[in-house]
Amino acid sequence: MNKKIILTLIISISLLIMLSGCSKLGEEQAGQAPYKLKKPVSKTAPTSAKQSTTKDKVASGEIAPATESESNPGMPAKAANKPATIYTAYARYSAKVYKIDPILTPTPEFVVLKNLDDSGYLRGKYIDVVNYCGSEPDGCIAGSRVYSSSNIYIYEPIEYGEPNYFGSTDATDQGHQFDETMSYYAGDTISQYFRDNFNYEYPIKITIKLYEPFRDEDLDWIGVTDVSGNIFIPRQHPGPVNYMRDVKGIMHEYTHNVYHQFVSTPSTVLDEGYAIYLPSSIVDDSRYSLYLNPRDPKNIDNSYSGNDNPFAFAAALWDVRRQLGRSTTDELIFESWDIQPIGHSGAVEGMVSLIEASNQKYGLHSATHRINRQIITDAFERHGIVCRDCIPAS
Ligand SMILES: [Zn+2]
Repeated sequence: MNKKIILTLIISISLLIMLSGCSKLGEEQAGQAPYKLKKPVSKTAPTSAKQSTTKDKVASGEIAPATESESNPGMPAKAANKPATIYTAYARYSAKVYKIDPILTPTPEFVVLKNLDDSGYLRGKYIDVVNYCGSEPDGCIAGSRVYSSSNIYIYEPIEYGEPNYFGSTDATDQGHQFDETMSYYAGDTISQYFRDNFNYEYPIKITIKLYEPFRDEDLDWIGVTDVSGNIFIPRQHPGPVNYMRDVKGIMHEYTHNVYHQFVSTPSTVLDEGYAIYLPSSIVDDSRYSLYLNPRDPKNIDNSYSGNDNPFAFAAALWDVRRQLGRSTTDELIFESWDIQPIGHSGAVEGMVSLIEASNQKYGLHSATHRINRQIITDAFERHGIVCRDCIPAS
């Protein structure tokens, strides 16, 4: 009996202890639940749109994760306020560039350069940037290259002629290193666009050769290309224009290079028309489609008209793009290059080949092709490019 009583007592005490423990656990859970819900909301959490935008860009890899100065967003905080390590907080391959040009995007932004070969130079799988000098070197060292052992390319956009445009140290050699960085960024961005959207890779590495300065005032060009994959960009043409800071200008020359792979003897209206249109499409801005010039915006969202006018051809393409969207329009353009007649063809052949690209992709009798054909013919007609008889009916 005694044993039974003792056993009963032990069981009862154990049950009491267990119940007591459960009760305590239940209280903790009940007490913690609202705390856990509240905890993520920090009083010091950033709430301004500016901060969250920056954070989003870091998360997406668009900019480098660096501590920013509150008074100067986009710039590192000063050493007086923050630990010195902030200056090494940039991610590898970080760079600072104008996303389009100094007029449309006047505040340099942080980007992450892609496809670099880790040599420290602005040299990658698809693009190489080399500095040449014209007849007046002005401190330029022929064949020189930007070199960064950390693969971080953050320089200030000092203007040519200002102190620290050229210099013998990183601290004093800011402006022209900024120019070279921009050239790599622009060239690699468009090469990536061709790979991502058209599955097209230029057969050899493109070398962007920067001439500083170029002062042949008789030549009216921002750059030239050759069959060996070179793009030549002068830093300065008559006037205060630095073409190395014009993303569209470098993309313009790159587009020529690719187009010449398909059409060996292109007409000026098509050659220039595509090279004017495509960079604007890539950066999604129709303004300053060619020749960065504050006095001449050359917006291809415009009524430019005429069979022999490259801007009219580019404007017709932009008109098509507004209705078919960037992806479809650019893809049809790229496909049209492969089916253009060999030899010298003009704006009409450009339009017809665009419609033929739609035919080949969607089928002559498909509803999509019929809609595309109508949109394309109407858009080109608005810009004075007409040839109804040239286009096969469904
Ligand atoms: Zn051109």
